[in-house]
Amino acid sequence: MKRYDALKRIVDSLSNELVVCNLGSPSRELYSISDRNSNFYMLGSMGLVSSITLGIALAQPKKRVWCIDGDGSLLMNLGSLSTIANNQPNNLMLIVIDNSSYGSTGNQKTYTSGKTNLETIAEGAGFESITVIEKEEDIVPSLKSLGIGCHFVLIKTQPGNAQVENVPLLPEEIKKRFMKSLAEKI
Ligand SMILES: [Mg+2]
Repeated sequence: MKRYDALKRIVDSLSNELVVCNLGSPSRELYSISDRNSNFYMLGSMGLVSSITLGIALAQPKKRVWCIDGDGSLLMNLGSLSTIANNQPNNLMLIVIDNSSYGSTGNQKTYTSGKTNLETIAEGAGFESITVIEKEEDIVPSLKSLGIGCHFVLIKTQPGNAQVENVPLLPEEIKKRFMKSLAEKI
C-alpha cells in the first residue's frame, strides 16, 4: 500500500468530517481522489498540520476534525503530540501516513525507517487511543469504529507518490470555502 491507496480508504471512511491535510503530495493526492469544501489543503507551514487541526477542533467542538499528517512532517513538530494529548479534544483524529520518507521532496528516508517509532512517542505524549494499521483493507473498518475521542492513528505504507496535478485553488479560495463549510450544519 502506498499513500495514495491509504488516502482512498480514508476518503471511503469519511462522512461529514472536516479534513486538514498535510502539504505537498498528500494534499495533491487527496484533491485528485475527492475534493470537498471541507478539505483544507495546506500549502505551506510544513509540520504544523496537527497544530492547525487542534486549533480547529477546539474552536469547533461540534464538528469532527480529521488531520492527515505524514511521518516527516510530524517529526518536525513532535511537541504537537503532547499539546493535543493534554488538551484532548474529543472530536479529533490525527492520522499519520507513515511511509518512512519525505515523499514530497524526493523520498529521502525519515528516521521512522530506523529506530524511531511514532506510535510509541504518541503514547508517551499522552494519547489514550492509538491504532496502528498495516493492511489497506483494515483502514475503513478501523476508522469507522473510532467514535468520539482524541485518536492517534498510524497507517504504515510504502514510499511513493501518485502522478497527480497540483491543487488548482488559490490559498484564499481554500480558506474561504473551508470557513464557509464550518457554517454548514453537521
Ligand atoms: Mg512521509
